[in-house]
Amino acid sequence: MLERLQELREEALQKVEEAVDLKSLQDIRVSYLGKKGPITEVLRGMGKMSAEERPKIGQAANDVREAIATAVDTKQAQLEKAAVEAKLAQETIDVTLPGRPVEQGNHHPLTSVVEEIEDLFLRMGYTVAEGPEVEQDYYNFEALNLPKGHPARDMQDSFYITEELLMRTHTSPVQARTMEKYKGKGPVKIICPGKVYRRDTDDATHSHQFTQIEGLVVDENIRMSDLKGTLDAFAKHMFGDEREIRLRPSFFPFTEPSVEVDVSCGICHGEGCSVCKKTGWIEILGAGMVHPNVLEMAGFDSKKYTGFAFGMGPERIAMLKYGIDDIRHFYTNDKRFLQQFKRV
Ligand SMILES: [Zn+2]
Repeated sequence: MLERLQELREEALQKVEEAVDLKSLQDIRVSYLGKKGPITEVLRGMGKMSAEERPKIGQAANDVREAIATAVDTKQAQLEKAAVEAKLAQETIDVTLPGRPVEQGNHHPLTSVVEEIEDLFLRMGYTVAEGPEVEQDYYNFEALNLPKGHPARDMQDSFYITEELLMRTHTSPVQARTMEKYKGKGPVKIICPGKVYRRDTDDATHSHQFTQIEGLVVDENIRMSDLKGTLDAFAKHMFGDEREIRLRPSFFPFTEPSVEVDVSCGICHGEGCSVCKKTGWIEILGAGMVHPNVLEMAGFDSKKYTGFAFGMGPERIAMLKYGIDDIRHFYTNDKRFLQQFKRV
């Protein structure tokens, strides 16, 4: 019987040694030390033993039982410690690993140009005015000296929504709306940036939707020279101090006289190249003195007040400033294009 106990002890200790997790350790504990285990069985059978044998076997059985229990407890503590360490090792943060880069966006080049132009005119005392993109025929055309049936309406193929409503073809209706608000009292000094719409076939230089910035100054004694000085300051600010402007006579129904404004070519400096089509000059905007009819329709006394207006396309300004060759780049949202305009 003593041998049997010894065998049990060795067998159990071996199994405890080999146990790899808490579950198998618990199984060993139950099978050797439980009520149905072999040691309990030995103790139960002691009644049949002789009086001499009984204490020896009893003692031995208790020793074996204790040895196994101690081994199980020790192993359990080891396994638990190992589990905690494994968990800690798994959750360790390696602070030397490189981080995940956060991609930083940047302003759209068109937004940057519009903001740059706004900043310049704000510094010159202008305020920014805005108006609706779905506009009444009256403000888009009639109030700007373009009555119904006027041939110059054809110059701006329009998206009509109803007979009287259309997608504005220019930002000039904001002029008409603003002047109306001033109720015939100057000075008015505004710029109006915004989106405009025309029925155009998209190509490298045309888009059915584009942006415009309109400028308007109305006050007493406003002269053509004020317009020229303003636009000269604008051109030098946007393109560089060495650039010049020139005015050429033109026609717009809402201004009289009207001019096209050119800036000297920054590539050939007047020599003539492919960008300026050999002329040394590049057209950048249209302008003129506000037509007396426009002033009168907005409630201003055209004998007392005069004014000038100009309208430009930020796309064209951005294309000239950055050497962009296709207007569609602004709208296709190609990241490779947009990321070239990161401000550093
Ligand atoms: Zn040139």
